[in-house]
Amino acid sequence: MADFQGVDFLGLDELLADEERLARDTVRDWVSAEFLPLIQQHVRQDGSFPMELVPAIAELGLFGANLSGYGCAGMNNVAYGLVMQELERGDSGLRSFASVQGSLCMYPIYTYGSDEQKQQWLPEMSAGRAIGCFGLTEPDAGSHVGAMRTRARREGDIWHLSGTKRWITNGSIARLAIIWAVTDEGVRGFVVETDRPGFEARDIKGKFSLRGSVTSELFLEDVQVPESNRLPKAEGLRAPLSCLTQARYGIAWGAMGAAMACYDEALQYSKERIVQGGPLASKQLTQEKLVFMLTEITKAQLLALRLGRVKDEGKLTPVMVSMAKRNNVDIALQIARQARDLLGANGIVDDYQAMRHMMNLETVRTYEGTHDVHTLILGEHITGHRAL
Ligand SMILES: Cc1cc2nc3c(=O)[nH]c(=O)nc-3n(C[C@H](O)[C@H](O)[C@H](O)COP(=O)(O)OP(=O)(O)OC[C@H]3O[C@@H](n4cnc5c(N)ncnc54)[C@H](O)[C@@H]3O)c2cc1C
Repeated sequence: MADFQGVDFLGLDELLADEERLARDTVRDWVSAEFLPLIQQHVRQDGSFPMELVPAIAELGLFGANLSGYGCAGMNNVAYGLVMQELERGDSGLRSFASVQGSLCMYPIYTYGSDEQKQQWLPEMSAGRAIGCFGLTEPDAGSHVGAMRTRARREGDIWHLSGTKRWITNGSIARLAIIWAVTDEGVRGFVVETDRPGFEARDIKGKFSLRGSVTSELFLEDVQVPESNRLPKAEGLRAPLSCLTQARYGIAWGAMGAAMACYDEALQYSKERIVQGGPLASKQLTQEKLVFMLTEITKAQLLALRLGRVKDEGKLTPVMVSMAKRNNVDIALQIARQARDLLGANGIVDDYQAMRHMMNLETVRTYEGTHDVHTLILGEHITGHRAL
């Protein structure tokens, strides 16, 4: 198939600055040349991420790309969004890897950490020498993180952490974990080095979705960390939720990358595939599907671009992000399913991308606030009635 050229029905490229286009095109080319040739084997194996690419991802400046200083690229939020789009055009696992490192691990240290914590971790993390994971979800606390049971108890200068975190991206390959735990003063965040006694990570096997990504369960049995490992400015659930807002922003862009990959593949395939004496693309039902895909991608692009500009102006609100994450992931999943359908039997094998994206997007629909949870967040915002 021909190389991916992007999808731009409304000429939105004209609304982008040169450096925004450059960031996008650089990552697009890298994903095509370096990542896509590897993903099939990692998905066929039981859940592995191509760790050999980490130095190159760091070299491209993609860890904490919208943060400044500490070796970070300092991109604006539109360039950052476009980067997330291109990474997820490769695979949701690749975008997840960068999102977790940047939005869920570097961002809390950057925003809530001490100067010492920032100096110690951020240069290492932007260079990809230290990989982080974000431990919020628990076996019995997913959508409702207020039900969290992981405890941190203070004795003098030492905190004792005990509990279980589940569904943690990069858990077993991380050098540090950002662990959220209940204390006598409420929820607090801790930087926990994963080689501390009492810390164990076990990978979750048998996933149909996000197979090119490591997902783990974390067990903390009286893990001891000094007070200097607590994020001093993180108080209450507001802190982890603010990290999720950052990550969800990237997902709103990223999901479009998966949708564009599926649309592009379906369009090219349907032009070449002959059914009943003519190209599949010449059939009315095919065209209806392709028109749906292009229209929804275009609407999602407008939503994401406006969100990025608003974020750069410092006016972004969590409910705006909820709308974009909810909508863009939903349409991406619908597009992936329709693309898979158009590919017929070929659509079920991994020589084509559609089914891999489709299965990945089931996770993307669930994590970082499920589709339903974002519906309820928006519903409460509109009506003033809390239904969560
Ligand atoms: C591959 C993968 C990677 C992940 N990575 C991370 C990570 O790095 N760090 C981390 O902390 N977490 C991570 N997660 C966890 C993810 O954020 C949670 O799975 C998610 O928050 C949903 O929680 P849950 O699975 O417990 O589902 P539940 O909360 O049990 O939800 C089950 C269903 O109930 C619905 N529901 C929930 N509340 C309501 C309500 N009030 N009314 C109606 N319906 C409702 C939900 O929409 C959903 O359909 C990851 C998950 C996956 C699958």
